[in-house]
Amino acid sequence: MTLPVADAWFEAKRIDADTTLIIEPHIHVLEQANMFLVEGSKRDMILDTGMGVIPFKPYLDTLRRDPDKEIICVSSHTHIDHIGAVHEFDTRLVHPAEAKEMAQPSGLNTLFRRDMPERLLQTFLDAGYPPIGETLIEALPFQGYDPESYRLTGAPATGLLNHGDTVDLGNHIYDVLHLPGHSPGGIGLFETSTGVLFAADAIYDGPLIYEGPGMSVEDYRATFDLLKSLPITIVHGGHDPSFDRARMLEIIAHYEALWDAA
Ligand SMILES: [Zn+2]
Ligand SMILES: [Zn+2]
Repeated sequence: MTLPVADAWFEAKRIDADTTLIIEPHIHVLEQANMFLVEGSKRDMILDTGMGVIPFKPYLDTLRRDPDKEIICVSSHTHIDHIGAVHEFDTRLVHPAEAKEMAQPSGLNTLFRRDMPERLLQTFLDAGYPPIGETLIEALPFQGYDPESYRLTGAPATGLLNHGDTVDLGNHIYDVLHLPGHSPGGIGLFETSTGVLFAADAIYDGPLIYEGPGMSVEDYRATFDLLKSLPITIVHGGHDPSFDRARMLEIIAHYEALWDAA
């Protein structure tokens, strides 16, 4: 296997005054998750930490206005593409239903397609993702990197986030929403003052995954009912570009029709 060497492993884009989107562009699109840094007046927050192929926090600190400020790490759920670097943070928050998995990941924990169950691969193809090559990385983070050396390590939670809790960054206060369907303890963060929702994998503008371990269409329907009932204006999803309320309702209607027809 010969992979090119990446110029840069991470890519960052400021999307509003305090929010920066970070991705790992050389991860296969299926596992290329969005990480969101929100810089608050009291403390900063990183929502999700990607695959953890190379250390993340040193890079993240270069993006922060004050790298010495307290930072809390919130994991939206515990799939491999969202908790890769969680162990690099001192404060690690997750929903109780995902805490065991974050402490000791039991699912896919390597970069190799050969370690992914056939059924799971088929689910991804059926959902509309392109096929995966031998590995989930499409470039090396540096010359000499050995993809075999990768392991998803996880880390125990230092605190739990339940539906109705708040995450307080000072000038940004988020309500924790329990959004199961894609993952049993999937959470979103909703800022009522602006209508901004960080939805993670509950809803994004790409193929949603609702068939697999820990997934439930019934729960997904309830999650969508909740989202429709809230004054959401902008959705920052766990994958793919952000979108507005009209697009959110379109995506929800698409999947509801799909499930009704099944
Ligand atoms: Zn994801
Ligand atoms: Zn996921």
